[in-house]
Amino acid sequence: MFILSEDSQRTQGRDAQSSNIVAGKAVAESVRTTLGPRGMDKMLVGSSGDVVITNDGATILDEMDIEHPAAQMIVEVAETQEEEVGDGTTTAAVLAGTLLGEAEDLIEQDVHATTIVEGYHEAARIAQSAVDEMVLEADVDDDLLEEVAESSMTGKGTGGLTAEALAETVVEAVRHVADDEVRRDDVAVHTQVGASSSATELVPGIVVDEEPIHDEMPGDVEDADIAILDVALEVRTGDVDAEYAIDSIDQLNAAIDHEESELRGYAETIADSGVDVVFTTEDVDDRVATHLANEGVLTFENLSSSDARKIASATGTGRVGALEDLSEDDFGHADRIRTERYGDDDLAFVEGGAAAETVTVFVRGGTEHVVDELERTIRDALDVVATALASGEVVPGAGATEIAIADRVRAEAAGVEGRKQLAVEAFADALDVVPRTLAANSGQDPIDSLVDLRAAHESEGRAGLITDGEEVTIDDPVDDGVVDPADVKREAVESATEAATMIARIDDVIAAE
Ligand code: ADP
Ligand code: MG
Repeated sequence: MFILSEDSQRTQGRDAQSSNIVAGKAVAESVRTTLGPRGMDKMLVGSSGDVVITNDGATILDEMDIEHPAAQMIVEVAETQEEEVGDGTTTAAVLAGTLLGEAEDLIEQDVHATTIVEGYHEAARIAQSAVDEMVLEADVDDDLLEEVAESSMTGKGTGGLTAEALAETVVEAVRHVADDEVRRDDVAVHTQVGASSSATELVPGIVVDEEPIHDEMPGDVEDADIAILDVALEVRTGDVDAEYAIDSIDQLNAAIDHEESELRGYAETIADSGVDVVFTTEDVDDRVATHLANEGVLTFENLSSSDARKIASATGTGRVGALEDLSEDDFGHADRIRTERYGDDDLAFVEGGAAAETVTVFVRGGTEHVVDELERTIRDALDVVATALASGEVVPGAGATEIAIADRVRAEAAGVEGRKQLAVEAFADALDVVPRTLAANSGQDPIDSLVDLRAAHESEGRAGLITDGEEVTIDDPVDDGVVDPADVKREAVESATEAATMIARIDDVIAAE
């Protein structure tokens, strides 16, 4: 009896399991070579010819047009990782793929999928407590935060800037928005092509792509009272089509005068209110613009609603829906509003005062590709610094934490009953993929490096594969300033385990045409 439509495709049992696992592994494999300081970049060319060059796992997987549903789940691992902690996306995806690979071997040895799932969950619990044990005792001060930032940047495009200089900027930005909590959303990143990346700077406020509506307006206003209008400053037109018959030149002049005085009235109302800078989300008539320029009011029109919201919330400005409601009560304030021209682009900087609750990393670089990758690098660094500052927990990087948790999981596997033990051991083996890949990507023999790392871990307690320029050494990562937020490791273990177990459990794929 057929219960499915003729067009649907069904794969069952081992075939379903193995095709899902192969797809998941393939995705993870595709980002493996980008891991770590010596990771390579990928160039992704879209169907319309747009090019993205990046080293960022989440970006690569996002740009790849992945269709297979199981493969898509690995993409989601990277997405979750990006959303939750902002870094460790490659690590999480590669770990998920390796867990799948190990599961495939176990299935071939006739270990049942549910046993694998249970074993993996057990191992993940052990791994999480092993991460706790690796947390450094040190205070999370600026120096440590800069190391966290720099570790997240190694191997990424920094547009020729030193990671050190960028790390300082990033930490300063996050410190700026940290009081009782870390308000990560109050750090914005704005890119502008056209200068060397060394011109990248921190703006105490916000930057928007807006230009003054008249050349004669002041380009730099200090101690500015701000109004945001949702009002069109144009001649009023009715909703109905109406025609007026004019039978003398006097009537025409009267009509024109009336229009003129209406428009001048708008500018006067605004000027009389005492406001210095006006942002409106609607159009402004050129004649109103001229009047406003004469009155010395800096005005911007057709503001996007997101920019209007940003400015309103940063400067404490109320939105005004009708000109007659314009009053001082709705004014916001900034220490300075200035406009700058960069090539063909005009930008407005709203700085200081209430606006200084937010901060913008103003990213410069010679080309679009440079600023784009620099922006991703900075966003990752902002995320890790915010994550580390919020939790106060940092662990050694360069594979040291993975070596340590694999060691713990392996040691505790002995106490696990039955075939589940095999799955726990397999989980430990999968964790080795991080140091192995760091080794392979920096031109080392992965097996030799792993053996040496384990030995060093055994004797020293903390050992990572440190890449410093051309040199690759086994050392305590903390001494070399290679540190990651603990939450990045926790999230990677959790999301990779979740995806791998979910895929391994599937034994029936029914696909509509
Ligand atoms: P992810 O997307 O997982 O963050 P990355 O390419 O950013 O991938 O690589 C992160 C890994 O590189 C982390 O395990 C981190 O500890 C490690 N790492 C960072 N700097 C160094 C370094 N100088 N030497 C060795 N490993 C490093
Ligand atoms: Mg990273």
